[in-house]
Amino acid sequence: MTANLLDFDLEGLAVFCERLGERRFRATQLFRWIHQKGASQFDDMSDLAKSLREKLKVHAHVQCLPVVSQHVSADGTIKWLFDVGGGNAVETVFIPEDDRGTLCISSQAGCAVGCRFCSTGHQGFSRNLTTAEILSQLWFAEHFLRKHLKVSERVISNVVMMGMGEPLQNYTALVPALKAMLDDHGYGLSRRRVTVSTSGVVPMIDRLSMDCPVALAVSLHAPTDALRDNLVPLNQKYPIEELLQTCIRYLAHAPRDFITFEYCMLDGVNDQPSQANALIQLVQSHARQGLRCKFNLIPFNPFPASGLLRSPQARVQAFAKQLQDAGLVTTVRKTRGDDIDAACGQLAGDVQDRTHVKVRIAQQRTIILRELNEH
Ligand code: SAH
Ligand code: SF4
Repeated sequence: MTANLLDFDLEGLAVFCERLGERRFRATQLFRWIHQKGASQFDDMSDLAKSLREKLKVHAHVQCLPVVSQHVSADGTIKWLFDVGGGNAVETVFIPEDDRGTLCISSQAGCAVGCRFCSTGHQGFSRNLTTAEILSQLWFAEHFLRKHLKVSERVISNVVMMGMGEPLQNYTALVPALKAMLDDHGYGLSRRRVTVSTSGVVPMIDRLSMDCPVALAVSLHAPTDALRDNLVPLNQKYPIEELLQTCIRYLAHAPRDFITFEYCMLDGVNDQPSQANALIQLVQSHARQGLRCKFNLIPFNPFPASGLLRSPQARVQAFAKQLQDAGLVTTVRKTRGDDIDAACGQLAGDVQDRTHVKVRIAQQRTIILRELNEH
């Protein structure tokens, strides 16, 4: 079996090149061809020696995940569905804004954490994505968008690991992918513009602070263990106090001087004034120990199996105001891509019906290939 070069960060690629009897600097050239120029054919890599290209053709390939479908929202958001085999698919969402282009990437097919309000969680866990499968999403989106928009400069400026899956439960594959995103010879993204979002895998947050500190978002969703145990079952293993202490430790290494707490607003569940108050007490009581944070309130994106409802807008605003009045920086997330089911937690609603997914993947692939060919 030959190696998929999307599976490597630069260091991994250097080791691979050495095994082929090549000098390490060849890896830098190769890495730039793949990630900066979007090349996948070795013959296109004109400044590589012919002998190296021939060797690579025997031992390596550059293989992106197959695209199953592409949906473009009225607001410019684009959602891609990628086939990861075995009847599974993962989703990637591009969110264009005036001053940035954000790509929301998946880390697993399904998720084992099983949060009550998340459709990926309801779907269960299928498998971890490989580094190549994680990086494929960025490689494809960046080079597709450049070609489509007819630009040669970078389109994606920000990456958020907020698609399907819990990135810190796929740590070994995640870290090389993050390193390739940050590498100046790769995508050259700033650490502050790459965000790992986690439901709170405490030991892995600590490891990330050592191995690859990027911006951190923590899905909090509740001010008390009793409620969080119920909404985010992982809380039973790593309760709030332990999680906050870990956040404080992370801040010493973080590229930003705050942690973002995500809080999904669920009607009558976690959106009451008393709960805003409890949240304020919780973070203020840790401020002395060094906890610096911002809140991002996410209006819940409902799906039938959850049995939950979105908080009314007025309650979201009131909750935000209560936090702001207490001096906590709080934003309410705009929902983007609603019309194409690309909003948080709606991802891969499409693949829940597993019995038909293979047929649908085949049908959708025909459509996307047509669309891609037209551009
Ligand atoms: N597993 C990681 C990252 C993926 S989920 C995590 O949980 O942080 C990304 C964000 O979407 C999380 O904050 C998650 O709580 C939120 N989310 C999940 N389902 C949602 C839904 N139905 N509506 C709104 N936000 C949701
Ligand atoms: Fe998994 Fe995150 Fe969904 Fe929870 S919210 S089930 S951790 S993807």
